[in-house]
Amino acid sequence: MQHSIWNYNYKAAGAGFKGEKKCDTVVVGGGIAGVLTAYQLAEKGINVTLLEAERLYAGTTHNTTAHMDCLQGYLYCDLSKESVQKAALYYESQRDAIDEYERIISKHGISCHFTRSDSFLFTTKNIEKLMTEYDALKASGAPAEFIGASTLLKVHTLGAIKLPRQAHFNPLEFLEGLPKNFEIIENTRILKVDVKDRILYSKDAVIKADRIIIATGFPIIDVPGFYFLKMYKSHSYTIAIKTAHTLEAMYQGDLQNSLTYRQYEDNIIIGGLDHRSGRVDEDRKYDRLEEKAAESFGASKTTHRWSANDCVTFDGVPLVGAYNKNDNGLYVITGFNKWGMTNAMAGACVLRDIINGKKNKFQPLFSPFRKKTQTGSFLNNALSTVNNLIIKPISVPSITDAELLPDSGDIVLHNGRKKAVYKDSDGELHICEALCKHLKCQLQFNPNTKTWDCPCHGSRFDIHGKLIVGPATEDLDL
Ligand SMILES: Cc1cc2nc3c(=O)[nH]c(=O)nc-3n(C[C@H](O)[C@H](O)[C@H](O)COP(=O)(O)OP(=O)(O)OC[C@H]3O[C@@H](n4cnc5c(N)ncnc54)[C@H](O)[C@@H]3O)c2cc1C
Repeated sequence: MQHSIWNYNYKAAGAGFKGEKKCDTVVVGGGIAGVLTAYQLAEKGINVTLLEAERLYAGTTHNTTAHMDCLQGYLYCDLSKESVQKAALYYESQRDAIDEYERIISKHGISCHFTRSDSFLFTTKNIEKLMTEYDALKASGAPAEFIGASTLLKVHTLGAIKLPRQAHFNPLEFLEGLPKNFEIIENTRILKVDVKDRILYSKDAVIKADRIIIATGFPIIDVPGFYFLKMYKSHSYTIAIKTAHTLEAMYQGDLQNSLTYRQYEDNIIIGGLDHRSGRVDEDRKYDRLEEKAAESFGASKTTHRWSANDCVTFDGVPLVGAYNKNDNGLYVITGFNKWGMTNAMAGACVLRDIINGKKNKFQPLFSPFRKKTQTGSFLNNALSTVNNLIIKPISVPSITDAELLPDSGDIVLHNGRKKAVYKDSDGELHICEALCKHLKCQLQFNPNTKTWDCPCHGSRFDIHGKLIVGPATEDLDL
């Protein structure tokens, strides 16, 4: 039942590449960021090879809710604290990205349910904060409208911001319909990159490239770049329901753990209940989404449940550009803060222009070396990482596998050794190493998804230790 609504009729992944190869430009990662970057570069005549570990679009992109929205929680009031210009530039980058989708969809006649829609951000608790966001949006040039107290989604709100002409679509139909003017190699996971000589290594292949773009979600190269200090991963849950209701607009609530709502065909998609990956606080995420659905829409039937994580930066703006200051041949596109539909497009256009030696006004905004990539929350992040990286790995578990309840998982003592153990409903044990393969942080069991999640950088593994999502590049040892 845990499968996204974008149940696209996937072709089987292509065979992996074996042997040696020389390429012009390699994009690593076949999610929306990698595919759009490859497309934009190839449109300018650049010879691109896209390498994907498994199957195109099967990562976070397959699990998105696909709002294309300039309205993004309380981001503009945060950005305005730094400078009104930064907030205005960010607004423009998102607006232009939606326009660019519309241009591409129309140019290639892609049938992907692209629909322009109004978007609402509403509050039930803090009207002052909403007013501050409204002011920040207006100062950024957004055609926002303020709506006083009203009932939205059967909820009595204190007020809402309306932003017209946002959009939503089916991301997999779009990506599948996008012309592939570049080479695609699936089933080829890059395990190591020789940054100096620009050589990529998979299990069976050695690929030399003039340029490399890392579009793997969380970047897979730790040094140089140190991206693991510049961001973390946040997990969200989603359901699709069938009800008698139809939504004409997209909605976002304003509280922490708030929800988003949109229509897709005859389903309503509801998402949210975010938490930092590897730090889940309860096992009722899907039940809570269904309770919220019942409050707003009455009787409904859940047709899909799914979840995934995405990279979050400390100032809410992506990291796109040169991977490290001293290298012109290595680039990155990441850190979309759960707004990857617009930001992947904006970032792909930035990389296209950097590589073509053309000025792009959003380049400084997205630069991985801008001042605000690390802020006050950097210290909190560093402290909690130290706890999960150093203190927890040397602590002794307080329980043994015998004490695990059926259908539960924990870090326990198994035959006197610390292990990640899931006990299934028949009492069978599934045992893996307790430390993540990335930087050896201690994993945490997520009972909502039945996965082992890393609290440091968000790698995820199934109960058999198989890698679901990086930055780790290998399965867990058993
Ligand atoms: C539940 C949820 C809802 C969301 N809703 C929205 C929304 O409504 N609107 C919005 O704008 N954004 C939304 N987002 C965010 C958006 O979906 C993401 O930002 C976006 O999909 C990320 O795309 P990506 O290409 O960076 O990553 P991915 O889609 O994860 O692609 C990365 C690819 O790299 C591959 N890869 C990884 N490691 C390697 C390797 N070593 N070698 C080769 N390939 C590798 C992976 O297999 C994967 O295919 C949502 C996110 C979540 C989690």
